[in-house]
Amino acid sequence: MKILDQESQRSWERLTDAIHFYGAKASLEFLAFSYHLPDKNGKWVEMLGVHVMPGTEATPELVKSLEPDVVLSGNGARSKLPNIPGIDRANVMTAIEAYKHPEKVTGRVVVIGGGETGCDTAVYFAMDKGLDVTLIGRNRNLAKDAGPIAGSALMKHLQEYAKGIYSGTACTAISGKSVTCERYGDIFTVPADTVIIASGMESLAEEGEQLRGISAEFRRIGDSEKVGNVRTAVRQGYDAAVQI
Ligand SMILES: Cc1cc2nc3c(=O)[nH]c(=O)nc-3n(C[C@H](O)[C@H](O)[C@H](O)COP(=O)(O)OP(=O)(O)OC[C@H]3O[C@@H](n4cnc5c(N)ncnc54)[C@H](O)[C@@H]3O)c2cc1C
Repeated sequence: MKILDQESQRSWERLTDAIHFYGAKASLEFLAFSYHLPDKNGKWVEMLGVHVMPGTEATPELVKSLEPDVVLSGNGARSKLPNIPGIDRANVMTAIEAYKHPEKVTGRVVVIGGGETGCDTAVYFAMDKGLDVTLIGRNRNLAKDAGPIAGSALMKHLQEYAKGIYSGTACTAISGKSVTCERYGDIFTVPADTVIIASGMESLAEEGEQLRGISAEFRRIGDSEKVGNVRTAVRQGYDAAVQI
């Protein structure tokens, strides 16, 4: 088995086994964590006979050259961007970009999106980074995808640390220094130096599909098949593997 992942720069020895599995970074990290294995960056995977090719993009040409019998495509998802005027401004970033570059999250922060990711991100930058954070969510119920236990803990932290929480509120425009909002017909602005968008993810299915037809068997797994969470991604990877 081979794993191709474009993110890490680590180089790994190649093997000639017949199964190729690309992406699934979160799944690997979660498995390493679950089994308390010593090196979550990949060495333990090698111990199991899996060969990792980090820093390697799984192009159709490359995958073809490996002559796989089975390709499992776990290339993940990308952030959905709502159609809000001003979303392309330099002070706007997705939640993923905010976690990757927390140094770019400065001043008064507005998080747009009241799901689990938006609430989590707002708590992280308010509680851990001590920033002035306001959350804006279109639904009346915030973090409803987090479930009752995690959701209530998240709401407790949000209420304690966030500067402002607006549920049932739509963001209608973003400027350099504020966002415009609409709530039950009222229009108001919230000051914002940094705007973080957490309005959901969409599967990278089309990119993954480019690898279909190279091998006798092909499946998409994880967020590439259906946007979910670490548990659903790991489960799909597991189910696909046992069916091979
Ligand atoms: C901000 C945020 C917070 C989240 N928090 C949680 C949480 O607390 N708990 C939870 O359970 N879930 C959480 N999720 C969801 C969870 O991260 C995903 O459901 C999970 O990572 C999906 O795993 P995956 O393996 O399918 O895809 P990913 O983890 O996205 O991995 C896909 C990998 O494929 C690689 N790749 C893509 N294209 C190619 C290519 N052509 N060649 C080689 N490699 C490629 C990418 O570089 C990436 O490493 C969160 C998501 C976001 C965005």
